[in-house]
Amino acid sequence: MRVSNRKRVMVTGGAGFLGSHLCERLLKEGNDVLCVDNFYSGTKDNIVHLLGNPHFELMRHDVTFPLYIEIDEIYNLACPASPVHYQWDPVQTTKTSVLGAINMLGLAKRTKAKILQASTSEVYGDPEVHPQKEDYWGHVNPIGIRSCYDEGKRCAETLFFDYYRQHDLDIKVVRIFNTYGPRMHPNDGRVVSNFIVQALRGEDITIYGDGSQTRSFCYVDDLIEGFLRMMASDHEVTGPINIGNPKEFTIRQLAETILKMVGGQSSLILKPLPQDDPKQRQPDITVARNTLAWEPQVALEEGLQKTIAYFRECLTR
Ligand code: NAD
Ligand code: UDP
Ligand code: UDP
Repeated sequence: MRVSNRKRVMVTGGAGFLGSHLCERLLKEGNDVLCVDNFYSGTKDNIVHLLGNPHFELMRHDVTFPLYIEIDEIYNLACPASPVHYQWDPVQTTKTSVLGAINMLGLAKRTKAKILQASTSEVYGDPEVHPQKEDYWGHVNPIGIRSCYDEGKRCAETLFFDYYRQHDLDIKVVRIFNTYGPRMHPNDGRVVSNFIVQALRGEDITIYGDGSQTRSFCYVDDLIEGFLRMMASDHEVTGPINIGNPKEFTIRQLAETILKMVGGQSSLILKPLPQDDPKQRQPDITVARNTLAWEPQVALEEGLQKTIAYFRECLTR
């Protein structure tokens, strides 16, 4: 039962990079927001500015354990996203994805809440088709060092669709492609944060492999808009739906762009390519365009400007 006009919205992983932006946006939209996080890879610093808001609540909780509360909508983001973090305790990573999904789906079933899963382009693995459409089943190594994340997220998708088929839950599955912006972790090893931090410190910029591998980079505000539109969609819109920026860049191009924008004396150096590193990744966002009337608005240089400003401040703090 809901006695107030405000929706009660829960964000698991709400103290992380994406989760903190989502909490902020949901508060702006007039919701009561519950941020659930165990601070595995997130930090209070990301949400400290929200703590004084009476419509914001923070709960330290690990989603691999059951959670009994009353709620209208659930955004399930809890899971470390960067290889450095998710490979640090790979068993916990799979548990978070799989047991976390079971618990949050059980909660959604009991409360009849809508539930959105933050899935990932990693479900496509090292793709053999390009760009990736939602009906591509993927090319994933089940026993490699990325598997705890990739297979955990794939299993979570399976659970979402089985709860939909078996219990008619209102599910929304979003496959997120590389997203960047303020509040990325400075030391999480992701390419955008690494390159910006290295350029700001005047250190060598570390290109893995020859830098010809490609990625497409979505600015965080665009992604959050996609999340909200997906959550507001009709019951029959379940996804999976790709949310990302289709503009593709080589890693070398990204390094050169960041170096030009930051200035300084850094050199580009080559390092070995990590195991199972996908060579190409680009979303086909036709479904998001047609179903949600969504497409990214923020160009790479504009988003990088804001991200560089954030890290500049972080490093001088
Ligand atoms: P992040 O690491 O900054 O945030 C994840 C949050 O989940 C952290 O605050 C962490 O403490 C919390 N968490 C981890 N395990 C938990 C547990 N067992 N119980 C409760 N909280 C837990 O990562 P992010 O970039 O903000 O990613 C958020 C979500 O989006 C993740 O599910 C990730 O897989 C997905 N995603 C992100 C990207 C991206 O480019 N950032 C791409 C694809 C998918
Ligand atoms: N669960 C939860 N909160 C709830 C309801 C369920 O955390 O409000 C958890 C509970 O631990 C359960 C899981 O979600 O194991 C799956 O719930 P479901 O009702 O689907 O299955 P069952 O209880 O029959 O195992
Ligand atoms: N990468 C790089 N230098 C770095 C960090 C990453 O060249 O300092 C490369 C990495 O090998 C990959 C790409 O940049 O090809 C994107 O890496 P990231 O970890 O950000 O994301 P993902 O591989 O999950 O898309």
